[in-house]
Formats: sequence, C-alpha cells, structure tokens
Amino acid sequence: MTDIEDVDVLILGAGINGAGVFRDLCEQGLTCVISDKADFGSGTSAAPSRLIHGGIKYLETGEIRLVAQSTLERNLLLKNAPHCVSRLPTVIPIFSWFKGIPAALRTLFGSTTAPRSRGAVLMKIGLALYDFYGSRHRMMPRHSLWSKARALATIPALTPRIVAAGLYYDAKISHPERLVLELVEDGLRASPSSRALNYTRIGGTDGQAVVLVDEDGNEQRIRPRLVINAAGPWIDRVNEDLGVTSRLIGGTKGSHILLDHPDLIETLGGRMIYFEADDGRICLVFDYLGKALVGSTDIRDDDPDQVTCSDAEIDYLLQSLSGLLPGLSFDRSQIVYTYAGIRPLPASDSTAPGLISRDHSAPVIEPEGERPWPIVSLVGGKWTTFRGFAEEVTDMVLVRLQQTRRISTQSLAIGGGRGFPRENERVKWLDMACSRTGVDQARADTLLSRYGTTALAILEAEGNTPTMLADAPDYSFDELAWITGHEQVAHLDDLVLRRTALAITGRLSGRDLDAMADRMAAQKDWNPERLAVELRATKARLAARHGFSFA
Ligand SMILES: Cc1cc2nc3c(=O)[nH]c(=O)nc-3n(C[C@H](O)[C@H](O)[C@H](O)COP(=O)(O)OP(=O)(O)OC[C@H]3O[C@@H](n4cnc5c(N)ncnc54)[C@H](O)[C@@H]3O)c2cc1C
Repeated sequence: MTDIEDVDVLILGAGINGAGVFRDLCEQGLTCVISDKADFGSGTSAAPSRLIHGGIKYLETGEIRLVAQSTLERNLLLKNAPHCVSRLPTVIPIFSWFKGIPAALRTLFGSTTAPRSRGAVLMKIGLALYDFYGSRHRMMPRHSLWSKARALATIPALTPRIVAAGLYYDAKISHPERLVLELVEDGLRASPSSRALNYTRIGGTDGQAVVLVDEDGNEQRIRPRLVINAAGPWIDRVNEDLGVTSRLIGGTKGSHILLDHPDLIETLGGRMIYFEADDGRICLVFDYLGKALVGSTDIRDDDPDQVTCSDAEIDYLLQSLSGLLPGLSFDRSQIVYTYAGIRPLPASDSTAPGLISRDHSAPVIEPEGERPWPIVSLVGGKWTTFRGFAEEVTDMVLVRLQQTRRISTQSLAIGGGRGFPRENERVKWLDMACSRTGVDQARADTLLSRYGTTALAILEAEGNTPTMLADAPDYSFDELAWITGHEQVAHLDDLVLRRTALAITGRLSGRDLDAMADRMAAQKDWNPERLAVELRATKARLAARHGFSFA
C-alpha cells in the first residue's frame, strides 16, 4: 500500500481549463496535483479552430455575457501571450441586405431556429455591438463594411453572389497545445510543492484518497481537500470513477482539415474568411502557419476517444469552400492533415447543436458518505475564456478552503510571453540573443516567433551549428532534444503532435520521424523494442486520427 499524499486540490484533466485553474490556484500558494490520462492539452484543447475570439455568432443566441467576457479575454491574451496569440483580420461575406432579422429576433427571445442567412443590416448591428463589447483593453481597430466591388477587388476568387462584406478583427493562436503546457509550467514555478502528471489516469477511490495510476501501473494515493473534474467531454466518466453519477455533458463533434494550397493562402492575404455554408452554418478558413485551416462541423457525438474527421465532413468542408471561392479549385489531394474534437457542451435537449450554449458553469457535488471532498466539474467553456473561467473557479475554491486571493491573473504573462519584446524592441532582443548565443538573426527570429522568450534557452542549447531536420529545415534536432529534456515529453507523438507543429502543418517526413525517434531513444534510454513501439504508435495515430500519410 502506497503512502497517502495530502494536497489542497486535485485536478483531473489537463486541458486548457484544468491547466488554467491549476495555474491560478498555484499562484495563490495552494498545493495542487494535476493529472491527465494522456498528454497535457491532448483532448479537445488540441482540436479547436485555433481562434481566440469574442464569439460574434453568440450575439445571435443572445449570449451577451459570453461575448463580453470573450472579447475581454481575447484582448488580455493578445497582451499576455503575444508569442502565440496574434491579431486576425476577418472578412464576412454578406449575401443579402435584410435577411435574418425576424429569425434573429426570434432566437434572441428563445426560439431554437437560427437565422440561415444574415443580411447586411443585421451584420452591421452585430459588428457594431462586437466593437462595443471589445472596447475593454482594446487591442484592435473597429470594423468596416466593404462594398461588393471592394470585396471582389480585394479577394477576386470570392463568389459574385455577395452584396457586400464586413471586415472586423479577432485573434488566432499558433500553438494552443504549447500554451496549455506553459500554464502548467507556470503553476509549478509558482507553487514548487505542486505536481503535474501526464499519462496518469484516475483509477478510482480508496476511502478518502483518490488513486492515480500511471502507464506502468504504479499507483499514487492523493487525499485532497477538494477535487476539480476538468475532464472536458470525459467529465461524466470521471465522476463515475469518483463514485458519482452525473449527466453534465452532451457533446458535439467538430472537425477541421488543413490544405496545402498556395493560391488559397495568397488569396486570403493573412485574413480569415468567416462565412455561411449553404446550410447556414458558420465555417471559416485562414492561413495557419502556411497551410489553409478549414472548419468546422457541428454534429452530435460523445466519444472523445475515437473522434476523427469523417469522409462526409471532408466533402462538406470542401464543398463549402468551392461555393465560397469558385475562382479556386479544391480537392482531397490538397489535404495534409485532419483533426476532430468533442465540444464539452452542457447536456441539452436542443435539436440544433449550433444553438447549445457555449457558456461555462462549475456545478459542485457536495461531500457524501465516505467521500469528504466536494467535486467541482468544469462544464463547457471556450478556449478563449479559460482565464476568466479559472478565476471564477479559483475564487469559489478559495472561499471553500478559507483562503484569500494573493494575485490576479489578469495581467500575468504566460510562458514565453514573459518579457516578450514589443514590435519596436524586437530587434534589440534579437541582437541580445545573437550576441549571447552566436546564432544568426534569422534563426533567433524563427525561434522567438515559435517559443517566445523561451527561445533564448533553446538557442543557447542549440548553438550556432545546429543539425536541422531534412524536410522541415526550420526545426533542429537540438531544439527537439531541448524540448524532450525540459517539457515532460513522454512519447514520440507528444513531440510531433503537441510540442511542435510538425504534423499539423504536414511537414513531417518519414525519414525525419525515424531520425527523431532514434535520437529520442538515445536521450531517454529506450531499448529497440520500445523504440519500435513508439514509432508504430505514432504512425498509427497519425494515419487513423489525422488522415496523415507520409510523402
Ligand atoms: C471543433 C471545435 C472547435 C473549437 N474552436 C474553438 C475556438 O476556435 N476558440 C475557442 O475559444 N474555443 C473553441 N473550441 C472550444 C474549446 O476547444 C474547448 O471548450 C476547450 O478546449 C475545452 O477544454 P477542457 O480543458 O475543458 O477539455 P479537454 O481539452 O478535453 O481536457 C480534458 C482532459 O481530461 C483528460 N482526461 C479524460 N479522462 C481522464 C481521466 N480518467 N483521468 C485523467 N484525465 C482524464 C483528457 O485526456 C483531456 O486532456 C472548439 C471546440 C471544438 C471541438
């Protein structure tokens, strides 16, 4: 029987919401354990549209509080995580002048039918409201309306069916999986007695303790004062493992595809197009690290362990793009990567998945019988709003544990966003990094964009003669070795799927993967059998979950 470890809070699930709460609680001086059955940020938090957005479409469902919070959090992330969150000019094609007003009014007053088409008048009102809600900590220009002629002159491939277009600003995130990890690391820095465990799942309870089990079957017994269930779409299953029955989640699946399509990237010119597909659903396309990211679908589904982008979804997304941009051609051969995730939405009887609330809540299951600790479940929520959600939950936990808040996370920079040089200081930072490490400025610039100020440690380790990957020559083996040694990398796919953007941008070649695996095996002292297992598992996952095939 293993010893029992007493902690303040045990957090089950290290997606963006678990990691956000972990960071906030650790900043308040609490001792926490966060554990995830897989890698940090590998669940739904690795499957979003990669937007840090105010949620303009939630104006339609009257979720004003959510829009106000989301626009504020978007603006804060632009300040606190400037190494991976950046401004995204967004074009909305408009197909009529007056359509959608009666349906929008009905929806606002509780009807469950969304407008199928939003006309220019409705759009103008929506964009003005969006500007208004985004005015706290404003980081973006205001919206404008384009005439049809201007829209077609700017984006010639666009369908001539439009009557006008709107231009407004939101934001995108380049490495969401890395930001989850950075929050975990920031938490550990703030509270050295806390611990973060990946590949460690809940194995049930043992009296007052929760049993955690790692991949080798080793058990740890944790006795918390409070449990936070941050398992996203797995919340009801984790509650069951804790001995409680709940029906909090009613998920929907959303899928994305990434296209290698230089003409489309040129057409987009750094802008996102946020558009209505023929069925009235909102889709989007933008330049994600040089590939065109297209999404997303919204289908009832609740199996987060098997979720993949289906053939029908691929057809739907390609057809929607063809309707929007008839001046370009699209086919399956352009797809380099697909991904899908389950939105952990609150359980709902709504027949229209798009109308289920994207707001969050944190219901509490009070102590009962042998279980002395309450369970707080983090239901719903958007990637964008994780900090605000974490703040609300942390405040509630502090009251329950009779502690007081020491520090607000509102202006706390995250990970490589700490000390990140603003535009006019960038050259100075690069000069400093180059003189300290001897690397050239282009390399320092690449790593600063990729890792923020963490780049300095990687540049120091890499030196000025790094060995680059053969087919993704902006990544070095020394950089990957640094990540493996410093960022709790347990498996090969942690490196290719989450610590780097090698797989999602379709730039991972078979020979690079083999070479990475060999080096990782040497660094982690894996025997040949383990190396073979890792390679097989990574290739199988890439093929089955991401439609990935090596060139
Ligand atoms: C298609 C799609 C598009 C989206 N686009 C956006 C967007 O552009 N912008 C935005 O703001 N939001 C977006 N969202 C919403 C956002 O991604 C999610 O709300 C958010 O990622 C949920 O995070 P989470 O931490 O609650 O859940 P998750 O990220 O799923 O984390 C739960 C974690 O719990 C772990 N876990 C499960 N079972 C156990 C167990 N037994 N023991 C221990 N750990 C366990 C899992 O491994 C997982 O890592 C999108 C969602 C989807 C699906």
